[in-house]
Order: sequence, then C-alpha cells, then structure tokens
Amino acid sequence: MSSGGHRVPRVVVIGSINMDLVVRCASIARPGETISGQSLREIPGGKGANQAVAAVRLGAEVTMVGRVGDDAFGQTLRDGLLREGIDVSHVQITAGVSSGVAVIQVDDAGQNSIVVIPGANGQVTAEDVLASSSIIREADAVLLQFEIPLETVKAAIEIARQSGVRVIVDPAPARADAADSVLSADWLCPNETEAESLTGLVVGTELQACAAAKSLRQRGCGRSMITLGSRGIVLCGEGGVLKRADAFRIAAVDTTAAGDAFAAGLGVSLSRGAADAEAVRFACAAGALAATKSGAQPAMPYLQEVESLLRDQPEAAVLQPV
Ligand code: ADP
Repeated sequence: MSSGGHRVPRVVVIGSINMDLVVRCASIARPGETISGQSLREIPGGKGANQAVAAVRLGAEVTMVGRVGDDAFGQTLRDGLLREGIDVSHVQITAGVSSGVAVIQVDDAGQNSIVVIPGANGQVTAEDVLASSSIIREADAVLLQFEIPLETVKAAIEIARQSGVRVIVDPAPARADAADSVLSADWLCPNETEAESLTGLVVGTELQACAAAKSLRQRGCGRSMITLGSRGIVLCGEGGVLKRADAFRIAAVDTTAAGDAFAAGLGVSLSRGAADAEAVRFACAAGALAATKSGAQPAMPYLQEVESLLRDQPEAAVLQPV
C-alpha cells in the first residue's frame, strides 16, 4: 500500500453527489412568508463528490461510487466529475428518483438554512459497494462520509478491511445513531459538531476535543482526529497518544467543504506513503485553502497550491504533544 511512493495514489470515494442550489436573500424566508431573493446559483457539491474532486486535484487517480437521479442535475453532476478526470463508471443514473439536492438560503448577515434532499444518494446500497469491490480492493485509500445509508458505509468498511485497504471516514453530517461498525476506520475525522453527536460530550475547548478524540478511538478506529476549523486539529493517534496542531493562517472567505478537502488531503497524502505528521499537515493545508474560496467543488484546492502553502508556512500545522 505505502510502497512505491512515486506511483500515482489510487483513491475510491463512496458517497453523495449533490447539486447545491444557493439562494441569496436579504433575510431567510419564514413559514408562510414569500420574499424576493437576490440570486440563485447552482454549485456542484455533496460530501462524496467534493472529496472526489479534491482528491483528483491533489494528484490521485479517483473512482467515484455513487448515484445520481435521471434528471438534468444528474447529467450535469456526472459530467462535471468526468471533466475533472474522475472515473464515473461506478456512478449510476437511477430511474425515477431525483438527484441529491441541497437548497441553501444565505442571508445578508451570512447566516444560512439548508434543506438536503438525499434523492439518489439514499439509494446507494451495500450491493453497489459489492459490485465495486474489485476497485475497492485495488485502492490505496477508501473515503467515506455519512450522506449515504449507514449500512452501505458499513459494507464498504468491511470490504476494504478484508483487503487491508486504508479507510478514512468523515462522519458528516452529524449522526447520533452511528454504530461502532461505521466508525471503525483507520482514520475517523469529525468536526466539533460531529464529534459531539457521536460521543455525547461537549467539544468546545481543545482539552474537551482531546477527551472526545480519545473516546472515539476507543470505539474502534485506528486514529481519531477532530477538526477545529481555524484552531486546527487534535489527534488521538497510535497507542492512544494525544497530539495537537495549529491551522494554517489564511483569510477565510467560505468554510463550506473545508472538511471535505481535509479528508481528501489526508487520504491522498497517506496513499503516497506519508507518515502521520506529514499527512496531517497536508490535510490541514488542503482544508485551509478550501476555506479561501466560496462554494463546494469550485473551492477544492490543487496540489500546487497545497505544496506552496506547505512551503510558505513551514511552522504551521506541525503535530505537537498536548
Ligand atoms: P468542517 O468543514 O467539516 O466543519 P473544519 O471547519 O474543522 O471542518 O475544517 C477542516 C480543517 O480545515 C481544519 O482542521 C483546518 O485545518 C482547515 N481549516 C478550516 N477552516 C479554516 C480556517 N478558517 N483557517 C485555517 N484553516 C482552516
């Protein structure tokens, strides 16, 4: 897996593909109210597809496993992934269902309210994963999130583990009903909210994040890493050792999909054979760069940008003892 450091890393992403419909309005419409909005933008998103786009831009060979509906969004979304250079032969067009859509209202104060319609993402099944088992077995890393049914995530973890393929689970969006079987990844990387839902612990301070990371690792993952936005990360690593790292210093514009770029960066770097400390830095750089641009997929960073940020801030995101 980590041999042949110069080979192109192979990453399989199993997850959601959404169209984000971003509505700008002075204030968010209340029940019964009709308001006039300012603009509508269609931006490709979905945590799975975002991670696939990030991974390919970071230099991996990427196969996406998922579903879109038999509607115009489905075609646009699949074509978009193909144009990025992602293998979409395992993205099925599903008859009689809409593509996944997120309807996002953003008001002038920057507050948002989001309705997610899973659509075809809800029909990504364990059978789909089985049908893709040969590409999963040949991968250097499998990336999973929680916008598809959890039984599917469980099936994917089982297949990957049988062949010793590295699994990275980004347990997003937050789900309190996640069983240990969907957390037993090599790397589990929730943000603060997701860590709170999974553990029932409050995750405000770094110390609290450490306690949550420790508790998550006890549920069966190799390493748990909680992302803390501009405050960086805490890691409960091999042997349960706790570490922390600061974030890169950037001018944040829109943190949408920062966590997706982070998970993809982690997967790609580990697949290239990087040790934990190097992979964490790479992931933090990818996450930070995503926060400097607006939207989901359009904001995913390229390898060159990550390499230049890593060079510019050599002291940032270095793992340290807690
Ligand atoms: P999510 O998008 O899942 O909520 P975070 O906001 O915690 O995830 O972001 C993931 C990672 O991306 C962080 O751990 C950090 O390394 C980086 N990042 C995100 N926002 C910023 C920011 N404003 N400044 C610097 N780095 C950031």
